Amino acid sequence: MIYDFAIIGGGPAGLSAAIYAARFRLKAVVLAKEPGGTLTKIHLMENWPGEQGISGAALADRLVNHAKDLGVDIMQTEVQSVSRKGKNFLIRADEGNFEAISILFATGTKHRHLGVPGEKEFYGRGVSYCAVCDATFFKGKTVAVIGGSDSAANEALLLSEHAKKVYIIYRKEKIRAEPINCEKIANNKKIEVIANTNVKEIEGDKFVKSVVLDKPYKGSAKLPLDGIFVEVGYHPHSELAKSLGVKIDENGEIRIGCESETNMPGVFAAGDVTSGSFKQAITAAAQGVTASNSAYKYVTER
Ligand code: NAP
Repeated sequence: MIYDFAIIGGGPAGLSAAIYAARFRLKAVVLAKEPGGTLTKIHLMENWPGEQGISGAALADRLVNHAKDLGVDIMQTEVQSVSRKGKNFLIRADEGNFEAISILFATGTKHRHLGVPGEKEFYGRGVSYCAVCDATFFKGKTVAVIGGSDSAANEALLLSEHAKKVYIIYRKEKIRAEPINCEKIANNKKIEVIANTNVKEIEGDKFVKSVVLDKPYKGSAKLPLDGIFVEVGYHPHSELAKSLGVKIDENGEIRIGCESETNMPGVFAAGDVTSGSFKQAITAAAQGVTASNSAYKYVTER
């Protein structure tokens, strides 16, 4: 079967695109390693319009079910390559090959690492990249979140529901999360921000025991900790698009226009993998539905 529209990635961008594609009566498939994508790692979303508080996993389920009910095929699989097949595209995935007239890269991002000694060694033994997954292991313990943007703030707030003490170790003076979350952090007695400080090393034996800071905090460069949550940003997942010939910018993000189009006809992109500056689930969804509209026009004209 040749699909009209193959959507690579199952986060808010890909799933929103799928819902609109089905309404445009495009034969669409979503190819996703994990349907829901990074949504599934969000404890509580308070900024999805119409939802004052919903877990990321619940929202992901709703989007998946919405797309499925409209007839979209959702395949849990990892895409290995995307190439041209005449005027169409050939997608090789672990679960088989797929041919499509148009495609959407909604491939999101992957975690950036801190790159300090001990980070790799203690991964899964006190070092984590996901508070939603691991916060409950740190009940009554002392943990730190490294980073100072939105993800770090969200992780710290969630961790404070379980841990007895949460440090945010940030390399600059003032964390730059959403103001509403900055206020929540300032009012949370369990959270303490260690500003203008970097982690140089993570130490322990079987499990993490401490970090070495690049400047003393309360008289010591060694900060005893049971857990470390690294939230220092993300790298775009743009390798597949790049190998197809899609234009990527200096940050590794896919360049798109306001119709979610790339430099290649029939190839669209949406969400965190693109060069948009305001990376939110709702802006990803908007780019995804815009891509569906563009794909609809492209397929109809073809
Ligand atoms: P981000 O905005 O890229 O922030 C990464 C943070 O890590 C920054 O504070 C950065 O410091 C720090 N950092 C980077 N490299 C570091 C290093 N080597 N050592 C120490 N600190 C380091 O990443 P993010 O917070 O994950 O957010 C990604 C995007 O998603 C953003 O556009 C964000 O707004 C969005 N997002 C939104 C929400 C929401 O609920 N609204 C939630 C999560 C994410 P500097 O500040 O010095 O650069």
